[in-house]
Amino acid sequence: MSQPLSGKHALITGGGTGIGAATAKWLAAQGAQVTLVGRRMEPLREVATGIGKQAFATTADVTDASALETAFGASRERFGRHDILVNNAGIARGGPFLRQTDEDWSAIFATNLFSIVTTTKLALPGMLEAGWGRVVNVASIAGLRGSPYTTAYTASKHALVGMTRSLALEVWKKGVTVNAVCPGYVDTPMTDQTVANIQKTTGRSEAEARAEIEKLGPRGRMLTSEEVASAIGWLCLEDQGAISGATVPVGGDGF
Ligand code: NAD
Repeated sequence: MSQPLSGKHALITGGGTGIGAATAKWLAAQGAQVTLVGRRMEPLREVATGIGKQAFATTADVTDASALETAFGASRERFGRHDILVNNAGIARGGPFLRQTDEDWSAIFATNLFSIVTTTKLALPGMLEAGWGRVVNVASIAGLRGSPYTTAYTASKHALVGMTRSLALEVWKKGVTVNAVCPGYVDTPMTDQTVANIQKTTGRSEAEARAEIEKLGPRGRMLTSEEVASAIGWLCLEDQGAISGATVPVGGDGF
């Protein structure tokens, strides 16, 4: 039976964990063939095995342009050109502005912005040639507003939102949409790290640190990866060709 994304090939960065893994599963459940890219083969393989023969896993550090080129090539050999690109891999390093080092800023921008310039340059020509494509950038609510102790992360996600809005205007007439999803706190390994940092700096217990984060969301809880994945997946559907340059908040933060 034909499914909404049958015949489409999606590549998801950071596909072995959290939002990326949930997105790969969502897209595959709608019929897409999916390539998972990340640094560690073990979690990638676990997700790919769970999906089955529609999935292909290949390793690359997204900050390494030549590794990405090799991974995209292998992925194209396996399932053909990329119709959908989900730029999900990202890192967060919090802390007071004066304690964030130049290396923190470089690593955050290399991962959360410059890697997306590279992946998008690799996938976009095929989309333009086909006259159809979907690029979804996983930004954050931190891409839409400021918050203390996350200056570098927030700046990188604002930059990603700017890139999304401008590129969307450049390619929309050619059948390619470019959007960003902007979730609040999601219950993933990245947030586990934030919880651990709060514990370390404040001496709070894990439960207290998690409760602190949960209080920040309007619903008093963290989002699930699946809730974010379905927003990403929805933007990839055929019917959503008129939505481009959007920043879709996930989590009811009032944007
Ligand atoms: P996560 O840590 O599970 O996912 C991040 C993924 O990116 C991991 O699989 C990690 O291995 C991969 N990654 C990081 N650096 C990489 C590199 N150099 N090369 C290849 N892969 C790399 O956490 P997540 O919450 O699922 O994060 C996914 C995205 O969602 C990130 O861009 C993050 O900024 C964004 N986000 C997360 C939250 C949250 O509260 N967790 C909120 C808003 C936005």
